[in-house]
Amino acid sequence: MRILSLYAAVIAVCLMLLQGCTKEEKLNQSPNSSQSKSTNGLRKTGTAADVSARLASLRSSLSLPEHNLNTHVSNLLQQHPEYKSVVLQALKAPGAPVCNSNTPIRQWLNEQLSDWDENTIFFASITGMLDFPTYDALLFENSEAGQTFGINGEYTHVLTKTFKDLKRFWDIQSADIIMVAMHGNMLLDRDRIIRIDMILYGDSQTDAEFWADLIISLMNDVPQYRKGDHPIFTFNAFAQSSFDFPPYGTIPSKIVMGDGILDGYTGIGYGDVAPQAVLAHEFGHHIQFQLNLYPSTSSPENTRKMELMADAFSAYYLSHARGASMQWKRVKQFLQVFFNIGDCGFTNVNHHGTPTQRMASAEWAYQVADNAQKQGHILSSSEFVSLFLAAYPSILAH
Ligand SMILES: [Zn+2]
Repeated sequence: MRILSLYAAVIAVCLMLLQGCTKEEKLNQSPNSSQSKSTNGLRKTGTAADVSARLASLRSSLSLPEHNLNTHVSNLLQQHPEYKSVVLQALKAPGAPVCNSNTPIRQWLNEQLSDWDENTIFFASITGMLDFPTYDALLFENSEAGQTFGINGEYTHVLTKTFKDLKRFWDIQSADIIMVAMHGNMLLDRDRIIRIDMILYGDSQTDAEFWADLIISLMNDVPQYRKGDHPIFTFNAFAQSSFDFPPYGTIPSKIVMGDGILDGYTGIGYGDVAPQAVLAHEFGHHIQFQLNLYPSTSSPENTRKMELMADAFSAYYLSHARGASMQWKRVKQFLQVFFNIGDCGFTNVNHHGTPTQRMASAEWAYQVADNAQKQGHILSSSEFVSLFLAAYPSILAH
């Protein structure tokens, strides 16, 4: 959470900067801009080095406790540490798992973050900007109409097709589940930022406007943020069951697919498998929601069981002749990378199982699919779960 003294300090410094660049501000402001007071607090024509120097100057004027640096980062994702761990590792945040730190996806994200210096990370952190796309998709992307996936819509076709196919394949009631995108360019949308800021931080309208203008200014003026298109803003996918969110109404059951996670796997050569595999894993969580499989208490053991089961649902669908019918060898190559992201937090409540256990679960599901396809048969979701639970002790033994 942002504290009041921090807020006041940031305002004071921004106002100082504002006064120093009034001329550029007028020149640069578009006629129909709805942005106000601090919008151009950092705006000045110049090189990236100028921007960096400005950020450093802004930051050094603030006296902040150092732990603030990672507060927002550590809140980034609650549900999916398989992605969260990558982000934490990339930002060298405390609590990042130490195992498998050299996986291809992590190297890719590190590469994407290689031009982020301490000040870029600092402003990403204090503004809370890393959280905004996730919460905006979670709370306000509530219709499938007009959804596109990927920064340029490059995953729209494959994901829409796969989602429809998953609904056909699994026998749960899935008509009401929607799939929506998470795009980082919402960080350019003043009204959306204000709305999320007021919900997440309880800010007044005026305070939320301040933060929105600061974030938009950073997006436009700091090239490292890529106007919100940097993958770190959307390095995530998750499943959420329906819930009431007054006064906004009921949030429908949904799967959220972030542009960043999709780009990451494409970037390391798995664009042919990853979108389908990640989506099938998330769909697996919806099967669990509907069959009431989620234990009432959360523990590392319970999370591990649910995640290993979601991996199995995914592998079964991907390899089944009447599912995605993918070559198992190819699926396995991807899963090797996916599972090796590195979740060795055995005592962490978000523990997903070790890479070996996750692969054992997927291998088991592939065998079940292989047997089933000989009979031209798709198991019902509850039949599949019974078989999984019977095999679970041997999966864990890996
Ligand atoms: Zn999961």
